[in-house]
Amino acid sequence: MRDSQDQGASRSLTAPPFDLTRYLSESIEQIVKNALASTLRTPAQSAFLLRYAKTLAVGNARRDELEAAGEHIPLFLIATITDACNLHCAGCFHHALSTGMAQN
Ligand code: SF4
Repeated sequence: MRDSQDQGASRSLTAPPFDLTRYLSESIEQIVKNALASTLRTPAQSAFLLRYAKTLAVGNARRDELEAAGEHIPLFLIATITDACNLHCAGCFHHALSTGMAQN
């Protein structure tokens, strides 16, 4: 009896693992839905967002298939293709890396 009570207590204290990819994916879908509402007076923009939402859904389904097969496909890709940027955006990781600030 005590064992089953202990198991029940530990089960209720164990949260499911946080799925960052699922969280980001659902957040993007929600952003697109919200943006769609603001484009209702501009059919071309609505059509673009609907195509984008469909592309997101197809990509998410494919990513889930590959994840189930053991291959992780990241949701985002960040590419730094040049060192010649002359902008100074707040929070730029590239400038932080090149100046050594990222190690502080
Ligand atoms: S984030 Fe950094 S690399 Fe990107 S445009 Fe801004 S300053 Fe340039």
